[in-house]
Amino acid sequence: MSASEEPRDLHVIDIFMMSVKCGNCDTYQTVVGFKKLPDKNVYTYECENDSCDPNVTRTIVEVPREVDNSTRRAEELPYYSAEEEPELPPE
Ligand SMILES: [Zn+2]
Repeated sequence: MSASEEPRDLHVIDIFMMSVKCGNCDTYQTVVGFKKLPDKNVYTYECENDSCDPNVTRTIVEVPREVDNSTRRAEELPYYSAEEEPELPPE
């Protein structure tokens, strides 16, 4: 992505306004994890059905913190842990 926009042209990203679709089963994935890293927020998406193995089709979306408009809402989700771990804990 280009970072050459003008300063006043501030872009924000609301991950709750976008859809993540699985390329394998062709259904929408849902957010199952949220983690804050020093420079970015990491959202984890998985298929909700039994067709896909989450270990294969899991999607990781990284959003730079300065443009992430979803942090507050994501923190209210039940799966959010205040711990800031570098890796996802194993299931
Ligand atoms: Zn799938």
